[in-house]
This record gives sequence, structure tokens and C-alpha cells, in this order.
Amino acid sequence: MQFTRLSDINLQNKKILVRVDINVPIKNGKVTDDTRIKAIIPTLNYLLDRNCKIILISHFGRPKGKKNSEMSLSQIVDNISKLISQKIYFHHDCIGNTTKEAINKINFGNVILLENLRFYAEEEKNDPKFSQQLAELADIYVNDAFSCSHRAHASIVGVAKFLPSIAGLQMQKELDNLNNLLANPKKPMIAIVGGAKISTKINLIKNLTKIADAIYIAGAMANTFFYAQGKEVGKSLFEKDYKDIALETFEIAKINNCQILLPQDVVVTKNLIENAEYKNISVNEVEQNDIIADIGEQSINEIEKLLTNYETVLWNGPLGAFEIKPFNIGSEKLAKIIANTTCNNGTISVAGGGDSVAAINAINLSDKFSYISTAGGAFLEWLEGLELPGIKALNKTKS
Ligand code: ADP
Ligand code: MG
Repeated sequence: MQFTRLSDINLQNKKILVRVDINVPIKNGKVTDDTRIKAIIPTLNYLLDRNCKIILISHFGRPKGKKNSEMSLSQIVDNISKLISQKIYFHHDCIGNTTKEAINKINFGNVILLENLRFYAEEEKNDPKFSQQLAELADIYVNDAFSCSHRAHASIVGVAKFLPSIAGLQMQKELDNLNNLLANPKKPMIAIVGGAKISTKINLIKNLTKIADAIYIAGAMANTFFYAQGKEVGKSLFEKDYKDIALETFEIAKINNCQILLPQDVVVTKNLIENAEYKNISVNEVEQNDIIADIGEQSINEIEKLLTNYETVLWNGPLGAFEIKPFNIGSEKLAKIIANTTCNNGTISVAGGGDSVAAINAINLSDKFSYISTAGGAFLEWLEGLELPGIKALNKTKS
């Protein structure tokens, strides 16, 4: 995959339009997780070292093409400012003459954040005129929002047609790590896939059968596989309509020489609520009123042993309903096991997916993994083997 890196171009004293993803969670006006803001800081510092004028653009929430003060990016200004230890200017629009004037007013070496791109419906429509208006603001376009690059939006795809386009440092890191993992993984490789629904992960699983030597399926997704095998799943979350697809997955895996593994035991409860009573039973002992809420202890121990046979482990999707304690135990144990094998055995470990990363962050283990993708949907689409429109756009404009 070819793309232009920041180091390929002389950026000294240039006006740079930087697409970032600062769509962070906010509660009562306060940012509750600033991971995405931290991720853009290396690119900002790199450009500031070259005395660039930085014009930051991002979306925030889903305002659906209308102005909405609750989704104003002005709320994020202080958070960015603190992390780069300098003032961030803000402008209440992202295109047009007033925006150009605001950009003209600031000096090189300054940073200005523009208002939420999605206040314009044209953004999500990849409107060419809107793309051009964005492009008019700068000399060079930098995409540092890998997590948005599965969307064919104006600030991700359209704008790249009008300006020299470069991958930012966060984008480079994602692409380099994912390229290394997928194009040339250290073998053998195991993928552990959990999460809620097989319907959202089936293409990912199918594609992984071509890459991994084994796939361990857990979480509510495993329930659909149990059901397809004729097991009782009680009141657990599962997808009846996906029975045939689950069975077909076993076949596809066989053709690709990939082993499909499932838990042997599970944690069940009658009520999927905080601190509910639960028991650990075999997958063959599930009753009609049971809800499978987490992977069983024996299965987690089995995964720990299994991992010693693999050089690379990829993890996506919690192994249980981890938001509801104590059904976070399986996912937390797995995070610890992967962290340990990474540190002690040199196993290459990659994890991604919004909820999976939240589970790993909740116990502060993210820096123990070889790589954690913060990209959510884009990471999943990449694993499905799809070409991401934003990455393709960077490729096409390679100068
Ligand atoms: P990611 O965001 O990491 O890709 P998903 O979105 O696919 O992961 O799945 C995460 C969701 O799956 C979580 O909300 C979690 O509660 C749910 N989940 C996992 N296992 C179960 C289960 N056994 N029962 C109910 N929900 C589950
Ligand atoms: Mg999710």
C-alpha cells in the first residue's frame, strides 16, 4: 500500500488542512475519554516544528447537516490546547469567506480548529463543491483520521482530489501496523473474535479464515454457533437467521485450513443485570431460562494454554456482556493473558474495536499490547479485507 508520508514532502511554512477524528465522548461538558485527541498530538507537533499554519477539521456527533450547539467542536478547544501547550484558535464555520479570513488572521506556527464538518449535509454526501471549498483553505491536505477513513465523506475523500494529500503520523502508524499484521503476519496466527452479533462480524470472520490458522469465537456470537450445532442457548442473545451462515463458516474455514474453536464452558445467569447471580457450566448444560453472559473459566484457561502455540494473536470483540459486572471477568482475564504473553513470550498482539479497546483500557493494559487500533469501524472494515475509501483517496493523489 503506497501513500505519501509527512517526511516525503517539505512542509516548512505551509498551510495545512488536517482531518482529525476528535469525535470524543462528552458528559456534562467534559471529555470523558481523550484517547482520540492524544492520538493526533504527534502530527500537530511535527507540523508545528515546521512552522506550519494548522487548520484542524473534524466531525463531532451526528448533527445531520444542521447547526447544533451541543455538537460544537468549540467544547474540545481547551483539551487540545492543554496537550500541545499552546493556544488553539476556533472559528464557528468550516468553509467560506469568514473561515478564510479567520485563517488569514492567525500566524504560521498557530493552530485553528474549524466548526463541526457535519453541520453541512454536504460533508457526508461527499459533495464536490464542499470538498473544493475545504481545499481552498490550505496548500496541503493531511488525513490523520484513519478511524473515519471507511467513510466516503468530503473531508476524507473529496478534498483529496484537490490538494496534495498525505497520511498523518497516526494514520501511518495504523496503516503500517495493519499492513504488517495482515500482509505478513508472523505465523501461526490465532484470531479471537467476540462481540454481540455474528451479522456484524461475519465478513470479518470469513476474511480471517484466509489469514489466521485458528479463530476462537466467543461472546454472544458464539451463541449463534452453539444454536447452529443444535445446542440449547436459552434466552441468550443469538441470531436464529444466521444458523446457516454459521454452518457455512465452518465449511469456509475448513477449505482455508483454519480451525474454528468455541468455548467449552460458559457463565450463565437468569438476569443480565449488575451483580446478578451466576454459575459456570458446560455449554451442554444450558437451560431454557439461562442467559449466556460470559465465557467460562475452563475456556479462558484453555485459551491461555493455546496462545503459547501462536506467534500472533488478534483480538476483537468482548467475550461477554462486559459492561455488566461481573460479566466483564472473561474479557478482563483475556486482556491480562494477552498482555502477559506479549511481554513474556514475545507474542505479537493486536487488538481493536470500540468495545474491545474500552475493555482493555478499563484495566489499563493498552500499552502492554503490541498494537491497539483505536479505529473502531475502520479497523473492522480493514479486517474484512475492504479497501477503505479514505486510504484509496490518499493513494490516488500520490504525487
Ligand atoms: P467491538 O466494538 O469491540 O467490535 P462488538 O461491538 O462486536 O465489539 O461487541 C460488543 C458488545 O457485545 C458489547 O456490548 C457486549 O456487551 C456484547 N456481548 C458480548 N458477549 C455477550 C453476551 N454473551 N451477551 C450479551 N452481550 C454480549
Ligand atoms: Mg462495538
